Amino acid sequence: MSHDCLFCKIARHEIPARVVYEDDQFLAFHDINPAAPVHLLLIPKHHIASLAEVGSDDSGWLARMVQLVPQLAAENGCNPLPEGGFRLVANTGIEGGQEVDHLHFHIMGGARPWSKRAAPAA
Ligand code: AMP
Ligand code: ZN
Repeated sequence: MSHDCLFCKIARHEIPARVVYEDDQFLAFHDINPAAPVHLLLIPKHHIASLAEVGSDDSGWLARMVQLVPQLAAENGCNPLPEGGFRLVANTGIEGGQEVDHLHFHIMGGARPWSKRAAPAA
């Protein structure tokens, strides 16, 4: 099925992005408005609106997507544990702060301090 959402267009290379990883199922690229020294977005290439849409049929690709996170963090400048690390965020729905309705993981890391935008709510 063809979708016209922003991240579907990035997945199809119709809109440019600073891509750091691509395979047949996933694409990762730099967030255009980074909230941390390292701020990547990881998306499935197929359209799914959010984690709220995930069902039992999705466990295979979703596990693979999660497995990619530490690899992408390490390859793109997040520092190694235990002093380093990364933050994984999936904003979901309006009150979750989701602005783009195509499932995406924010992978953030690097030396602190980070932008207040990346800080957890008080
Ligand atoms: P969210 O609020 O969780 O839906 O996050 C959407 C993210 O997409 C924000 O952090 C934006 O900065 C980012 N973003 C929006 N447009 C683009 C784009 N064209 N390329 C890369 N990142 C984008
Ligand atoms: Zn989409």
